[in-house]
Amino acid sequence: MLARRSSRIALTDSRVDHAASCPVCMERLISLRWDYRRRRRIWIIACIAFICLVLATMIAIVTHHDFRWHRE
Ligand SMILES: [Zn+2]
Repeated sequence: MLARRSSRIALTDSRVDHAASCPVCMERLISLRWDYRRRRRIWIIACIAFICLVLATMIAIVTHHDFRWHRE
């Protein structure tokens, strides 16, 4: 049990060491991280735009109803 656990840790350690020492894997990791950041930023902008659109629609509906309410 202990041997298994230690071997598993050794395997992950060797993988981490490889990713840290191998320039190809390092570059891939960095590009993945940048891609994730860019995607998250696009998502945040899209969400803000969507919220603004919903708010504008709600305000338009509310003001429209107010107009009708005052006219009638
Ligand atoms: Zn590699």
